[in-house]
Amino acid sequence: MTSRPRPVVLAGPTAVGKGTLSQYIREHFPDVWLSVSATTRAPRPGEVHGEHYFFVSPEEFDAMVAAGDMLEWAVVHGRNRYGTPRHAVEAALAGGRVPLLEIDLQGARQLRASMPGALFVFLAPPSWDELVRRLVGRGTEGEAERAARLRTAEVEMAASGEFDVVIVNDDVRRAAEELVSLMRSQVS
Ligand code: 5GP
Repeated sequence: MTSRPRPVVLAGPTAVGKGTLSQYIREHFPDVWLSVSATTRAPRPGEVHGEHYFFVSPEEFDAMVAAGDMLEWAVVHGRNRYGTPRHAVEAALAGGRVPLLEIDLQGARQLRASMPGALFVFLAPPSWDELVRRLVGRGTEGEAERAARLRTAEVEMAASGEFDVVIVNDDVRRAAEELVSLMRSQVS
């Protein structure tokens, strides 16, 4: 008898490169099942509804929460809401696939309580200075938003010890290979 696969939860501070890593995995490891979150934030240029996120209104998000459709959800950076739609993850698990959930620390903590069998992976920057450099370099946020994200990142960095595994995002290909090989070891 094969056991049910364990979901892999990937969290890490803002701008550590979770989005880039997810995109790399989408392009190079199409067999990996990536959970698509719902969010109330507006799409950035190039983001596709249903691929990067489900972009929903606050009312639609409320309705999903009320219906029990969110495995976890959180307000991130004190602004928009993000959540993991439950049914898609459950269907992936039932189909024997290892779901990859790329979420924030609050969401990871909720899942620690509700899905203790999951594998919790922390994506860390090579250093704090490098994290600040990446956040400034991305240039997608204004000054106030950047300051808010840095405050969140400080708290998030302090939580790395709560995770089962730490992957240092020094190189996106190397980090992706490490993560995918960890995921493959989750199926027995
Ligand atoms: P961004 O707006 O840059 O795409 O994402 C902001 C943050 O929201 C990131 O830290 C990302 O991990 C987090 N996030 C994305 N999807 C989810 C989700 O479904 N649940 C939670 N809790 N956080 C999420």
